[in-house]
Amino acid sequence: MVEEKHTPLFDVIEVRKEFPILSRKIYNKELVYLDNGATSQKPKVVIDAIEKYYKEDNANIHRGVHHLSQVATDEYEQARTAIQKYINAPTSSEVIFTAGTTASINTIAFSFGELMNEGDEIIISAMEHHSNIVPWQLLCERKKCILRVIDINDEGELNLAHFDELLNERTKLVAVTHISNTLGTINPIEAIIEKSHNVGAKVMIDGAQSIQHLKIDVQALDCDFFVFSGHKVFGPTGTGILFGKKEILDAMPPYQGGGDMIAKVTFEKTTYNELPHKFEAGTPNISGGIALGVAIDYLSKKDLDAIHSYEQELQTYAEQEILKIEGARIIGTAKDKTSVVSFFIDGLHPFDVGTLLDKQGVAVRTGHHCTQPLMDFFEIPGTIRASFAFYNTKEEVDVFIKALKRSVNMLK
Ligand SMILES: *Cc1c(COP(=O)(O)O)cnc(C)c1O
Repeated sequence: MVEEKHTPLFDVIEVRKEFPILSRKIYNKELVYLDNGATSQKPKVVIDAIEKYYKEDNANIHRGVHHLSQVATDEYEQARTAIQKYINAPTSSEVIFTAGTTASINTIAFSFGELMNEGDEIIISAMEHHSNIVPWQLLCERKKCILRVIDINDEGELNLAHFDELLNERTKLVAVTHISNTLGTINPIEAIIEKSHNVGAKVMIDGAQSIQHLKIDVQALDCDFFVFSGHKVFGPTGTGILFGKKEILDAMPPYQGGGDMIAKVTFEKTTYNELPHKFEAGTPNISGGIALGVAIDYLSKKDLDAIHSYEQELQTYAEQEILKIEGARIIGTAKDKTSVVSFFIDGLHPFDVGTLLDKQGVAVRTGHHCTQPLMDFFEIPGTIRASFAFYNTKEEVDVFIKALKRSVNMLK
């Protein structure tokens, strides 16, 4: 890599060395990975943890009396505690391992949904990921509940006045994303949580795009649920977290039945295990959970505030350069946004641009980003999205912009 021209807030050159994949080449060009909103790359410590687990510690957890089973159980539970501390959950029993954000939301939609009645209302927003839309639609069909959607403005910000109109005593749950994966908008979740609690509604925050960028404190936020995926926070795929307040989780019936989630099984009646196991049926992704703990430990040693400013710097710089291209339009211009630059170039299909960028070693995402209703709102088929992580550099943005200009010239 060339030397940094600006003053870095932390040593990005050193950080990059921790991610083996960043030094690989694509079509003989240096990889410029700007698809962090889809999944993040993994530091060596995370990759090593998975390998170590299978080489040295592999056994099933919470079951065996033998040594390896106890080692595996300890490591898995230590990971849970690391995650609990990181998000400042009151207890580790409120931190449930899942397969990802989607799995966490479906668990809540089913189990919390069992406590809902006909005519109860759920509020989401117009910028939600499909995985924070469809589970609620399924619940509404099953329980005859009503789904309400908070409008957004042309900048891609939530219309809080509209939210006030939607909120009422029938609202049982408000489920909104902390940061939009398509627009980068940071939503005012503190205000949303407070307003919701004022009418007695519970709040679920989709943290899939915020856990890797902002410091999360679930007690300070006072959210009832906070969910995220491991793979977007430098951990493995197939892992995720569902944080829920104990009294709410206790009131909810289990989602899936099976091993580990029971206290006693007879054919007449089964009693359920205590939290968090009540929501963890079957053998989990043990190596994944352990490695997610390692990823969270890794992140906890970084200065998140410095990372946040640095990523915003990259995003602002990219936006400024993209706007110099004729016909370019940024989708998502919220005052409070981070790490995501979605854009559209008049007359060009995002997919064609993305394909040409790929040939130049630049990985971006094109399409609707699992937010089709949002694309309908902006009346576009999709966007080109560059999404940043703290290992990206200003020089990479330069490579991206140069490649983008070449692509646009080839297509025009
Ligand atoms: C990625 C994402 C999801 C879904 O996460 P999975 O890891 O695919 O389960 C949900 N919400 C947002 C905001 C996302 O970015």
